[in-house]
Amino acid sequence: MSRGHIPLRSCIVCNVKTDKRDLIRLVRTQSGRVEVDTTNRIPGRGAYLCHSQPCWDGALKKNRLDHKLKGLLSTEDRLVLQEFAQQVAAPSGE
Ligand SMILES: [Zn+2]
Repeated sequence: MSRGHIPLRSCIVCNVKTDKRDLIRLVRTQSGRVEVDTTNRIPGRGAYLCHSQPCWDGALKKNRLDHKLKGLLSTEDRLVLQEFAQQVAAPSGE
């Protein structure tokens, strides 16, 4: 009985490799916006982040996400992602 292949992806900040369903995919769409891809189906350049507040902070504050997605995030997109981060990211150190 085969358990199948589990696709692994790395968080762009901490580089932890894990089942991609445990990561959050961000994608730069063809319109240039950066969105959270909750369906894993939006076409475009993607980046993965884990559910960790420091990783989201690093991705947004240190412009790592901009680098990965080959372009600066707009202020509006950044705000949306920061709000999203507060909902999805588990508090660390607890
Ligand atoms: Zn991470």
